[in-house]
Amino acid sequence: MNRRLFLATIAALPTLAERASGALPLPRFQENPFALGVASGDPDDTSVVLWTKLAPRPLDPDGGMPPAAVEVTWELAEDEGFTKVFKSGKATASRLLGHSVHVEVEGLAPDRWYWYRFQAGQAISPVGRTRTLPSPNSSPERLRFAFVSCQHYETGYFTAYAALAKDKLDLVFHLGDYIYEGAGRDGQVRKHANPKLYTLTDYRIRYAQYRSDPLLQAAHARCPWFVTWDDHEVENNYAGDISERKGADVAEFLIQRANAYQAYYEMMPLRRRSIPRGPDMQLYRKASFGTLAELLILDTRQYRSDQPNGDTASPLNEAALSPKQSLMGIRQREWLQSALKASPGTWNILAQQVMMGMVSRTTSGEKKYSMDQWPGYAHERMALAQFMGDNKIKNPVVLTGDIHTNWVNNLRVDDRKPELPIVATEFVGTSITSGGNGSDNPATLASLRAGNPCVQFYNQQRGYVRCTVTKDTWQSDYLVVDQISKPEGVVSQRASFMVEAGKAGAKPA
Ligand code: FE
Ligand code: CA
Repeated sequence: MNRRLFLATIAALPTLAERASGALPLPRFQENPFALGVASGDPDDTSVVLWTKLAPRPLDPDGGMPPAAVEVTWELAEDEGFTKVFKSGKATASRLLGHSVHVEVEGLAPDRWYWYRFQAGQAISPVGRTRTLPSPNSSPERLRFAFVSCQHYETGYFTAYAALAKDKLDLVFHLGDYIYEGAGRDGQVRKHANPKLYTLTDYRIRYAQYRSDPLLQAAHARCPWFVTWDDHEVENNYAGDISERKGADVAEFLIQRANAYQAYYEMMPLRRRSIPRGPDMQLYRKASFGTLAELLILDTRQYRSDQPNGDTASPLNEAALSPKQSLMGIRQREWLQSALKASPGTWNILAQQVMMGMVSRTTSGEKKYSMDQWPGYAHERMALAQFMGDNKIKNPVVLTGDIHTNWVNNLRVDDRKPELPIVATEFVGTSITSGGNGSDNPATLASLRAGNPCVQFYNQQRGYVRCTVTKDTWQSDYLVVDQISKPEGVVSQRASFMVEAGKAGAKPA
């Protein structure tokens, strides 16, 4: 694909200097321009991204905004009542970025909570709470976070987020499938407002509909998030520049991907390094929670090679085991290896998308594995586990979404060989809503375990996972919702697993 063509089409992204240019007229809004709420994300020890997006009519193609750029004032305070405003400034919400605002506030104190809000014209946003990370060489006592994924708007209510927003969390990881790209369908709990997504406007409207959800907004306002995507932010099971649609034109798909990535950037509290360049966007990155935990956030969609075996569940045959198969792409793989080697963290958290445990869900006959998950890239998967073992990477813990079910897996270089040592622990979180109400079925766990010794836990309900990490122990609590088809679902703790530092593998807490 001609790169210059893409740069030309997207070249108009405003520079900081342009953003900081002269005074803009004060807008007057008939409706609340902050209908999508506020968010923060990607903190380090001295800075954090504050986010909002002006959209007085979220489901309108332009969000109900006039074409002109609008000046937005932001404030960050040391207290919830904004009596001690610590930093403030102005940002420009321009049409080219869907009137989104991304402020990277710098010069903050490490390991501190702050409150922030925006003002546009006479309108004032809701207040968000955020925090910086502890300084990289400090030894914080505790990290408490949640990880979530897969929030199909049509299949249920985001009740899990109501519980998450009440937890005392330092951060949230979103591991992808933040939106789903399909057309609105009748007969669901809720309905997508527009047809299947292709254009930038299509994706913007979809994100606006999702982010109009008050529970999702409240969860974003509670603490900073580290977000990454999976497939549905663009299209189901895409791989790199390859669409799921058979025979789809690569150039056309890359245009769609560019649209999807731009809408994702606009909607998320991401740093400038993640501003998309055509169909490319830097999303893999790392952060340090002092020396307690290194946070490694992966992108296993943008650079992956095509799923082998036509993306149907298959044995680990020559195609799945081919060294040419890569889920991360060579540059990300090398970056991850260097990051792991250099990591000062007692725990090394890989926040990523698809299941790493080599699990066959066939109950009889030949074992078959998902080719969209790490087993479709088994050579790279095994080499990564080998690398972690060989280099004595401290306490690797893999966080996973995508599969709409809860799992705990003890990972070996080859999970088919239980005689090998465990090198890492994987916690797989279920969906917020995707898959509907779900059910708890302990019998399925028993049969899965019989064929897959890596599996320690399995559950088919909706919810999220909350993790509490100290230098000695890791605990993962599996929170489940009894129903999501009605707003009044009840959240309870279904299971809790722990890992001891220095000893890979989970056991019931
Ligand atoms: Fe999903
Ligand atoms: Ca997925």
